[in-house]
Amino acid sequence: MSKKFMTKLTHKGEKAPSSISYPKVPPIYLSSVFCFDSVEELDLVYEKAEPGYVYSRMSNPTHHCTEEILAALDEGDDAIVYSSGMAAITMSILAFVKAGDHIISSNVLYGGTWEFLNSELKKFNIEVSFVDFYRDDIEKYFKPNTKIIYMETISNPLMEVYDIKKIAKVAHDHKALLIVDNTFATPVICQPLRLGADVAVYSVTKYLAGHSDILGGAVVADKDKIEKIKHTGQIYGPTMSPFDSWLLMRSLRTLELRVVRHSENALKLAEYLENHQKVKKVYYPGLVSSPHKKTADEIFNNGLYGGMLSVDLYGGEKAACNLIKNMKNIKLVPSLAGVSTTLSYPAKTSHRSMSREEREKAGISDGLLRVSVGLEDIEDIITEFDAALHII
Ligand SMILES: *Cc1c(COP(=O)(O)O)cnc(C)c1O
Repeated sequence: MSKKFMTKLTHKGEKAPSSISYPKVPPIYLSSVFCFDSVEELDLVYEKAEPGYVYSRMSNPTHHCTEEILAALDEGDDAIVYSSGMAAITMSILAFVKAGDHIISSNVLYGGTWEFLNSELKKFNIEVSFVDFYRDDIEKYFKPNTKIIYMETISNPLMEVYDIKKIAKVAHDHKALLIVDNTFATPVICQPLRLGADVAVYSVTKYLAGHSDILGGAVVADKDKIEKIKHTGQIYGPTMSPFDSWLLMRSLRTLELRVVRHSENALKLAEYLENHQKVKKVYYPGLVSSPHKKTADEIFNNGLYGGMLSVDLYGGEKAACNLIKNMKNIKLVPSLAGVSTTLSYPAKTSHRSMSREEREKAGISDGLLRVSVGLEDIEDIITEFDAALHII
């Protein structure tokens, strides 16, 4: 038997035989690095004279395929995937600010984003003003050094909707960029770039991946901005794994079908809950009673309002805890956007660090539960709520 196993083991099967056909589904390129036959080839790729990959922190063919879908969905030039939504958010912000700059942000934000803007950026001597984008005039917070306006399409957990078109115009009048976290809406419902925003960011962990299995983030923007953000990301390094990128690609194939169903179910559940005697208030931008429906109708596509709603129960904490206990299939899950309906309890999770008074002032009562409405048959979701509400 021939020896030199190690040489064979390290060199055989390095390249699949060439084929006139190609895989129906792009493969997962689990390769950290790429090979060249000559220095000339390496030069051509570095100088962008020839397309090619060098190292997977810079780019990877699996990411490339996924990014092509993401860019198309938002009608942007290009996209980048990251290892988490927080990576997409922080890289997008850091790419456009330097020490001494100023940011204006909505005062209702995802907890991690809040912490980044409120404390982490202090280390870089970047100042942030937090403003109520619904009730306050953003105009008066601008300073000569304001570089970024930051907001989320649909706020958590009260589901407020802000007029992206109007805010984009104000931002551009002051030569600032508008960055929009479009996680709750998805491009099926809202396309921030088409409304004038400069950068759309996502936690793909939520609807874009949609199956509660991977963590990931994405950014969509024009070519120049993506180049800048890419450069920042290559330094900090929050690269997505090609395997997760492939799962994201697989999930994106059904995004519209899922988001339509999530939204249709959420509207029906919101209407049912609004008429229930144990319910004080329902927060959902698709309800005729919602003060946000008008803006939503202006900036949302297809008469869809998303899969997220919040319900405020009479009876405060006791009622909220009892409802959670009474549920059979609907679980307490402190995230969102999976295939099944889940509940989260803002007073005990995302807004836990606030005092009760602060929470009440922000409209987040102890009886408020957030519902991520799933893809089940709506009759079954309503039946489960009905039974659980009956005995709280
Ligand atoms: C979850 C979430 C994030 C953070 O995303 P990760 O993937 O958990 O890092 C940011 N923004 C919004 C609106 C979110 O829901």
